[in-house]
Amino acid sequence: MTSAMMTESPADQKRDISPQDLCDKVAVANQSGCRFCGAKLEHTFVDLGMSPLCESYLSADHLNQMEPFYPLHVYVCESCFLVQLEAYVTPEHIFTNYAYFSSYSDSWLAHAKKYTSEMVERFDIGANSFVVELASNDGYLLQYFAEKKVPVLGIEPAANVAAVAVERGVPTLVKFFGQETARELADSGKQADLLLGNNVLAQVPDINDFVGGMKILLKPGGAITMEFPHLQRLMEENQFDTIYHEHFSYFSLLTAEKIFAAHGLTLFDVEELPTHGGSLRIFVRHVEDSSKPTTSRVTDLRAREVSAGYTKMESYSRFAEQVKETKRKLLEFLIHAKRDGKKIAGYGAPGKGNTLLNYCAIRTDFLDYTVDRNPYKHGRFLPGTHVPIFPPDRIRETKPDFLLILPWNLKDEIMKQNSFIREWGGKFVVPIPEVHVHE
Ligand SMILES: [Zn+2]
Repeated sequence: MTSAMMTESPADQKRDISPQDLCDKVAVANQSGCRFCGAKLEHTFVDLGMSPLCESYLSADHLNQMEPFYPLHVYVCESCFLVQLEAYVTPEHIFTNYAYFSSYSDSWLAHAKKYTSEMVERFDIGANSFVVELASNDGYLLQYFAEKKVPVLGIEPAANVAAVAVERGVPTLVKFFGQETARELADSGKQADLLLGNNVLAQVPDINDFVGGMKILLKPGGAITMEFPHLQRLMEENQFDTIYHEHFSYFSLLTAEKIFAAHGLTLFDVEELPTHGGSLRIFVRHVEDSSKPTTSRVTDLRAREVSAGYTKMESYSRFAEQVKETKRKLLEFLIHAKRDGKKIAGYGAPGKGNTLLNYCAIRTDFLDYTVDRNPYKHGRFLPGTHVPIFPPDRIRETKPDFLLILPWNLKDEIMKQNSFIREWGGKFVVPIPEVHVHE
């Protein structure tokens, strides 16, 4: 197990930004309706109150400054059932201010490598094919296609990250993707046999321009694959802490199908993956392409979503109460532990931890500190709650009674690596899907 495996997402290395930088760079978009169908948004999915941007870790000299907070109020569209957040954060902020270096995560690299072999086999990708990745980052994935002598192109808006990709032999266009970029490429004879995007669809404010661009860039017989967190898993496993300002949309298969269909694209296969608490990998083709029949995996998942109520408003409106109850239970546990004189520390400083702690108002009154393996975060403070972040050694030094695991998706690894806390009777606490103490 390497330290890189402990990063909870491909995003971990961030440039230093002050709260004032954020105020300057974040713009309120005042979106008036559903980002897909334009219907008026009137139904709350969940309101997590005001929260700072989840990745804006503070250095000590920023603690006494103003800190921008934005509503984390999620709506569900009653017409298309797209669960969505208003875009308070501009795409420029998300994609250029944060330097994402996917290659820092070993588990994510293994995922990318396996994907490459599967796609080469399935779609007969070779030296005469063309593979394009949207939000291609530092070329962590396309490098595996390039190794197999497959012509590739990355499209990545962050210039510094794109430069790393180019260095490792992955040609990269520094641009935001949409219909305009797609048309430029198609006009110059560049269309993709395989067009992919992982964890980008949720972060696109103008989803119609983005999916419309994919229609233009895809070769007539080509295939698109996209990975994104699955709404059903978020709701059933109570993963409300995966809601951040940088994630604008939360998709069911049914809604994703609707969005692609509106742009002349058909979902013909789907895989359910364990990544990010439960993701979907969808396979998409042109509606005109009859060479790729729809698999039973699509019809099965569609049927499961319908029977689970994803086409009815009542199913969505239950979620908010479930979230409130989770907060009450977690606070109840923490209050009792503190009354009993227990010491509680956190483990990890992931984005999802910041949503959880800000929503539940858990500060140093409950958590003495948290630890993280990423050296960038050491000596910094969590946004909003100002919980200090230390290197993991701090746990041995202070011997907390409870270790609250914030990146719950990695709880098995974390409990294994920190099993030494049992030497002094320490116990692990996992907050999601609901608070649970591991003896
Ligand atoms: Zn809608």
